[in-house]
Amino acid sequence: MRKPVALLGAGTVAALLAGCGGASSASDDGPVVVAAFYPFAYVAERVAGDTGTVTNLTAPGVEPHDLELSPQQVASLSEADLVVYEKAFQPAVDDAVEQNVDGATVEVTAVAPLEETTAGDGDPHLWQDPTKLVPVAEAVADELAEADPDNADRYRSNAEKLVADLDALDQEFATTLAGCERQAFVTSHEAFGYLAMRYDLEMISIAGIAPDAEPSPARLAELRDVVRHEGITTVFTETLVDPAIAETLAAEADVETGVLDPIEGLTDETNDEDYLSLMRSNLTELAKANGCG
Ligand SMILES: [Zn+2]
Repeated sequence: MRKPVALLGAGTVAALLAGCGGASSASDDGPVVVAAFYPFAYVAERVAGDTGTVTNLTAPGVEPHDLELSPQQVASLSEADLVVYEKAFQPAVDDAVEQNVDGATVEVTAVAPLEETTAGDGDPHLWQDPTKLVPVAEAVADELAEADPDNADRYRSNAEKLVADLDALDQEFATTLAGCERQAFVTSHEAFGYLAMRYDLEMISIAGIAPDAEPSPARLAELRDVVRHEGITTVFTETLVDPAIAETLAAEADVETGVLDPIEGLTDETNDEDYLSLMRSNLTELAKANGCG
């Protein structure tokens, strides 16, 4: 019996190899997607599933606002079947896409337009509203279906599952944040404008939209008065941002610190988490700080 079994094995491998070289324009390993930073890498991974490969230009622990690209990363963009990025958020990525990418792209603000939040007009942090990722998921599925038509149904069904998860998350936020003692919350940088807008909260940020901007002593004194006046219990620091200023403010106002994750990237501490679990951690922190539910 051993010999025929071995022959069958070899034949099966040959058949599989032949099957992979079909009409699809993608490589034998499925389409290659390059995503600019974590939230869109997460969307691409969910939609590509086991069929494609996703790489993230922003390594864990790196703050994506100031990303610089290596020559290898620039080359990876030109070889990708699909590039997913957000215009005007990472200038180095915009330049590389413009100069090196002829293939398919999903530029997320083209399908999920930026809006004006309390962080300003064209606030880039759109993934803090889960419903904004729905059209991104659908656009990624459309592009993957075109790059790899043999697996089109798989990409569309993966996208549908992600959309169901995003809708469930949105419902959880809406329900939990419907009845809070306070609407205001204080954060390090202005990453949560879309969250505040969708769920009727008020974001007060210590720095501006860029996480490395430092507030003036006058601004800090003003914030301290706001914290006391509004009865705020917690000043939120962020992963990927130095917590020193938030800690100073919390100490001066005699309130606690907590952590909200802007979900711009994973860190060593959050490597086992994903977009959905990090959003749920943020919800728990906000509900606790603001006396919700
Ligand atoms: Zn940011």
